[in-house]
Amino acid sequence: MEYLSQFEELKAKNLSLDLTRGKPATDQLDLSAALDSIDINDYAFDQVDLRNYGLLKGLSECRELGSEILGCAKDYVWAGGNSSLTLMSQYLSYLCIQGIGDGPWSSEERVSILCPVPGYDRHFVLTENLGLNMISVPLNGNGPDLDTIKSYLESDHSIRGIWCVPKHSNPTGETYSKSTIEGLIDIFSRTRKKSLIFWDNAYAVHDFVESEPLEDIFSIAKEKGEEDLVIGFGSTSKITYAGSGIGFIALSELNQELYLPYYSSCLIGPDKLNQFRHVKFFQENDLNQHMSKHAELVRPKFELVQKWLEGQSYGSWTNPTGGYFVLLKTNPGLAKRIITLSNELGLKITPAGSTHPYGVDPQDEYIRIAPTACSLEELDAAMEALVCCMGLAHQENLNI
Ligand code: PMP
Repeated sequence: MEYLSQFEELKAKNLSLDLTRGKPATDQLDLSAALDSIDINDYAFDQVDLRNYGLLKGLSECRELGSEILGCAKDYVWAGGNSSLTLMSQYLSYLCIQGIGDGPWSSEERVSILCPVPGYDRHFVLTENLGLNMISVPLNGNGPDLDTIKSYLESDHSIRGIWCVPKHSNPTGETYSKSTIEGLIDIFSRTRKKSLIFWDNAYAVHDFVESEPLEDIFSIAKEKGEEDLVIGFGSTSKITYAGSGIGFIALSELNQELYLPYYSSCLIGPDKLNQFRHVKFFQENDLNQHMSKHAELVRPKFELVQKWLEGQSYGSWTNPTGGYFVLLKTNPGLAKRIITLSNELGLKITPAGSTHPYGVDPQDEYIRIAPTACSLEELDAAMEALVCCMGLAHQENLNI
């Protein structure tokens, strides 16, 4: 009964709290405020007028910044507009419309993409919107389970790619090990030609405590002669401004050649003024030091989430060393109920199921917590409410 009375007390407070999206908080955005006062008094740069069309692949120095963030050689990287998700969407649309030398994916009866789970909801929505089939693959703490991938690839010829968030994965927080990366390349190159690894390195430099490093997949793939397998993505969304940063795509020379005509039909040139500002900003601010400032701001929030979860006795959860999420695993069948109860208290949580393709978490057990966007005080109140709802849902389940 104790949770029920606490629930009623919290309800009376008419809370309005939000743990849904992995967004930087205002103080994090403020770390990059100097971007806005960068003086551009000479628009001639990289042999173009920054204000004009042109330089489709982005400013050379900005591509270099992208390579530093993504941890791969500069030659692979193009610097685009403000969002890596847009670059993913454009690239996958290109595969559906044109394909990579063996016809458009859309002309095939069924094209499937492997989706490591729990995973990033927007990958799943994008894939579904493009009419592609999704097949879940379990993550095992060091990346996706290679035996499962191998058996799927051997038995299902419709599989043409896999989504990966290799560092501080959204939402499990795990980082892919070197042997997982090697295994992925070996399995895909052996069993399926013209298939792709979509390497969404959104949290490449987002450690808030010392973290396991991520190996450069492009170097490993190159050594094996398989660079064409990998399409990399990343952005400065959680480095500078989430809405006005720079997105990057990384591709082999052959993939660049194949993709360029399609890409050039979508735009005449990226926003080079913003790219220039980013170049200047990171000439004056060391990237690692800048990320340490983010870490100082987000670490207390992750510690607070751990404190609340450790203070109760239900479920299990991740304790990430970077990225933007904590993943809570409840007893099977309780995630939806906990989220419904939280919503009743005025606490928004990402809908149950969003961690899985088609919005279906088969065991109804995962809840994604995104603690960065709110203040510490709001987070404290949100976690109190969430923990109360967890207790209440578990009690209801036991019919106490
Ligand atoms: N990929 C992943 C794994 C993400 O978590 C996010 C943001 N939540 C994005 C991509 C979006 O990136 P961008 O802002 O560059 O579009």
